[in-house]
Amino acid sequence: MIRFENVVKRFGDNTVLDDLNFEVAKGERVTLIGPSGSGKTTILRLVMTLEDLTDGYIYIDGQPFTYEPRGGRRVRQKQKDINKVSTKIGMVFQQFNLFPNMTVVENIVEAPIHVLGRGKEEAHARARELLELVGLSDKVDAHPTRLSGGQQQRVAIARALAMDPEILLLDEVTSALDPELVGEVLGVLRDVASSTDITMLIVTHEMQFAQEVSDRVMMFDHGRIIEDGEPGALFSAPREQRTRDFLQAVL
Ligand code: ATP
Repeated sequence: MIRFENVVKRFGDNTVLDDLNFEVAKGERVTLIGPSGSGKTTILRLVMTLEDLTDGYIYIDGQPFTYEPRGGRRVRQKQKDINKVSTKIGMVFQQFNLFPNMTVVENIVEAPIHVLGRGKEEAHARARELLELVGLSDKVDAHPTRLSGGQQQRVAIARALAMDPEILLLDEVTSALDPELVGEVLGVLRDVASSTDITMLIVTHEMQFAQEVSDRVMMFDHGRIIEDGEPGALFSAPREQRTRDFLQAVL
């Protein structure tokens, strides 16, 4: 579903990802862990096309995405071809990023109506279903500023799901929340994980959650995968000293 091939990302002379290769299968849930600055968020932002690849290729569903090899060269794709694939990919951010001037339901129907061309009635009906899923049926017409952080994040999850993504990217979605609000957001994500077959790439410091929802965990350090495995084994018996040190510091 997602394949990184020889991916390089530099910011100026800072090489954040260095010849990175990995694959995520359709329906798989993969969590990226590792120290601050190891490149986890950058990986999600590359898939979301919020950052530009310095070198290498990303494949989505077996097709090159954003850049393609053509005649021995690496060529950027046309924006309209990139946009077509982008609609399959949703992301939830640390800082919710809701539109503050729109109500909850307006936030959710905006992209389905304007990007996918869905009818208003259909988009609103789906939004109500999703608000039920995230436990916010009573907040349809509320403004985000009137909601708690946990509620705002649950709206952001509903908004991402409203696009029927095949891939969902979760970037430290509980890091900006007060500790007592973390549980409700993780609960919603557990429900999403168990009730859909969406492929998920997750960056989180919530190791218990990672263990519960992930099929695989990849440990990063300095933009490289240093360990990759099934969460039970990786958390209980890490092979690498750097993984042991990291887990000791966060658990
Ligand atoms: P954290 O857990 O702290 O979020 P991370 O593993 O997600 O860390 P990234 O956010 O991907 O790490 O950052 C990797 C490196 O890239 C860091 O050194 C960071 O300073 C650098 N970086 C990220 N975005 C930019 C940017 N827009 N401009 C310059 N440098 C950046």
